[in-house]
Order: sequence, then structure tokens, then C-alpha cells
Amino acid sequence: AMMPLATWLAGYIRDVPDHPYPGVLFKDYASLLADPRAFTALVDALADVCRHREATMVVGLEARGFLLGAPVAVRSGLGLAVIRKSGKLPGRAFRRVYELEYGTDEFELQCDALRPKDRVVVVDDVLATGGTALAAASLVSEAGADVVGVAFMLELVALSGRRRLARDLDGVPVDAV
Ligand code: AMP
Repeated sequence: AMMPLATWLAGYIRDVPDHPYPGVLFKDYASLLADPRAFTALVDALADVCRHREATMVVGLEARGFLLGAPVAVRSGLGLAVIRKSGKLPGRAFRRVYELEYGTDEFELQCDALRPKDRVVVVDDVLATGGTALAAASLVSEAGADVVGVAFMLELVALSGRRRLARDLDGVPVDAV
């Protein structure tokens, strides 16, 4: 019998309690990346989101978001721009501070990474509170491009990140495979 995609892929994700901090149930998807059929199916599903949104660029978030953003861009026939932690990108960059469960972090996007007409889908692995994705979307907007979608491997529904994104991103579609 055919299993739904999400059910099948969920079987490759391992819950690791208290990593990297006490109280965090870490979603480890190393086994999914290691399985070529599962990895391809996940990338294809995220590439479908880019196609439906008529994206012109993919933005991947450091670090685990890179593992998905890059193959999704290639699969979609699109270019990739990267959002990195502060201090790593050369040249001029826009910067955003964002909240983590413990403390804050800083993201940067090179000022010339996107064109003003770009339609961007932001790709990351996990949607938790939504703070990371909001910071990324805000950088894309500052660069003058349009965020037309935010796409995740999975969302932690109990943390209500989707509701926060819906409110703060003004109706930009949020997808989680
Ligand atoms: P948030 O900003 O709260 O939505 O957190 C999302 C970011 O933190 C993503 O870049 C994830 O990679 C990472 N993250 C947060 N919670 C988890 C978790 N339980 N398992 C794996 N990654 C997580």
C-alpha cells in the first residue's frame, strides 16, 4: 500500500531529547539525508513549493537549511542565495538579530545577493517558534526582493510558528512537508 509522503519521511527522523540544550527535542534527519530515495523525495516536495510559488530564487539558512536549500535550488532550476551567521560573508551585508531559545543570534545576507524583482522561497529544516524564518524573511525584504513562500522539512506544531509567520509575514504561504 502507498504510504503518505509525510508518514514515510517521518520514519527517517530521530527525536533526540535535550539536544543541544535541556528541554529541546532535537529533530535529527541524518538518516533521511543518508537515504537517497527519501532525500530525493523531500527535495522534490520542497521544489514543488518553489514551482507553485513561481519562485525565481531560493534562500537557504545556515546551517542545516543549506543541506536542503542547495539541492532544492538545483532541482528547481533556480539560483541559491545564502543567509549566514554574522561575520562570515564578505562585502556589504544586511544584518538581523533574532531570538533563540537561549539568547540571540545574528543573520546576514549580502546586499547584492538578490535582485529587486526576485520572488524568493526561504528554505529551512525545522519550523519551531518561527523567529529564525522571520529574521530571514526580513533580510530578503530589506534586500528589496519578495518573499513568496517559506518551506520547511517539518514544523513543530505545538510551538505555533506557523501562526506567528502568518501574522508577521502578512499571508505569505508557509509549507511543511
Ligand atoms: P525557530 O526560530 O524557533 O523557529 O527555530 C528554528 C531554527 O532552529 C531552525 O533553523 C532549526 O534548524 C532550529 N531548530 C529549532 N528547534 C529545533 C528542533 N527541535 N530540532 C531541530 N532543529 C531545531
